[in-house]
Amino acid sequence: MKKLVVAIDGPAGAGKSTVAQLAAKSLGYTYIDTGAMYRAVAWKTLQQNQEVTDELIVDIVSDISVVLEYKGGKTFVYVDGKDVSGEIRTPEVTGIVSQVAALRPVREKLVELQRNMATQGGVIMDGRDIATNVLPNADIKLFLTASIAERAQRRYDEMKAKGYDVDMDQLKKDIAARDKADSEREISPLVQAEDAELIDTSDMSIDEVVQAILDRCR
Ligand code: C5P
Repeated sequence: MKKLVVAIDGPAGAGKSTVAQLAAKSLGYTYIDTGAMYRAVAWKTLQQNQEVTDELIVDIVSDISVVLEYKGGKTFVYVDGKDVSGEIRTPEVTGIVSQVAALRPVREKLVELQRNMATQGGVIMDGRDIATNVLPNADIKLFLTASIAERAQRRYDEMKAKGYDVDMDQLKKDIAARDKADSEREISPLVQAEDAELIDTSDMSIDEVVQAILDRCR
């Protein structure tokens, strides 16, 4: 069977990475979490213990190695050889990642890496601009979304499980702010591609969404 290229976009908390990983596992495909790559640049920026400015971010991205590895159904992220898979998921990183992702030098570098990772096919890539910009010729294009309330609830459960003390109202505000920043930025904003299929996951279980993806692939 032909090895497909599957592009999944959508806002924060729509469940993209959870379902994409499960679908990739079932198909024997590689999963590429592009958000993790923007998070990696944000993480290294914070490591400088300086005021976070666009200049600092651009300086950081000019000399960074970001490597993604998908093994045993899990994504590992390495920055300059160091495993930062857990550290890129902190609220601090989440707080600056949209600023990082809005900058052209950052996007140019990461998009090139992303395209190189997809050349062999047999990949599911998720992010914000995969169908519109990174892989416009993808075989399957999906746009996953869910209500803000549902997305906030999922993030709340995820952060609680990791031991964070989270405030639901703050979480909703943060998600709405990130949606706005990602959708209104000048370069490759978050938008549903004309030829992408919209799937609203608000009332769907994880299994149902995975099945919907597998159905499209078969
Ligand atoms: O998917 P995740 O929430 O981890 O993505 C973190 C951030 O990275 C997003 O809020 C967005 O600012 C940025 N991003 C992006 N383009 C992508 C993937 C993520 O701009 N393809």
